[in-house]
Amino acid sequence: MRVRVGGTHFPVETLGPGRRLGIWLQGCPLACPGCMSRHTWEPENGESMDVAELLELWRAALARGAAGLTVSGGEPLAQPAALAELLRGAALLRAAWTRPGATDDGLPADLLVYTGYEEPELGAARRAALAPADAVVTGRFRIAEPTGLVWRGSANQRLTPQSGLGRVRYAPHLDREADEPTVQVVVEPAQASDGPSGPPSVRLFGVPRRGELTYFERQLRERGLRLRGRSWRP
Ligand code: SF4
Repeated sequence: MRVRVGGTHFPVETLGPGRRLGIWLQGCPLACPGCMSRHTWEPENGESMDVAELLELWRAALARGAAGLTVSGGEPLAQPAALAELLRGAALLRAAWTRPGATDDGLPADLLVYTGYEEPELGAARRAALAPADAVVTGRFRIAEPTGLVWRGSANQRLTPQSGLGRVRYAPHLDREADEPTVQVVVEPAQASDGPSGPPSVRLFGVPRRGELTYFERQLRERGLRLRGRSWRP
């Protein structure tokens, strides 16, 4: 099955517990004011991939000790059939590929999905697509409701475990305020289109606290660096 993908990265360390594979599905119809991932809104942008290619990335991440998979966007439920196939496949693969002792808590790799839909908006079809996830973060980003809650961009967003693994893995984090860095900075070589002596590019992963994004952009600009493929999740 084909799916539009905004980006992937491993390891992501700011969107769920441990070192994770991040997959950002392209397209979001929700248009939250203040969204910091506007580049993910347009459903035709990003890259067309096969779900099997994403599952191969997941298999490779598990072999490298991934603690989990985080699917975000954009809005993953804008492509519900592909999301369901991805999560089902990911659940099957982790049974075969999770490396013993790979995670800090000794638990298998988990599946976490971010959706901007609120709980009451999910309905049967969306819930079915999300069913294989161990935990979901639900709710629009609301710029007027800042929060210190780990992995959430606004105070209304809910982190809800959905499986036995999710309940154990996420129990310590449901009401936890982040005391670790919430943004991961990844510097990459210049793109071919910039020529051989072009500047390196920077991508940010995570949930910046209020004002942090402006701070990062200023710091990077002063060093002659630029952001590419913004992938954080508010
Ligand atoms: S914050 Fe998330 S749900 Fe809201 S518009 Fe941006 S990508 Fe969509």
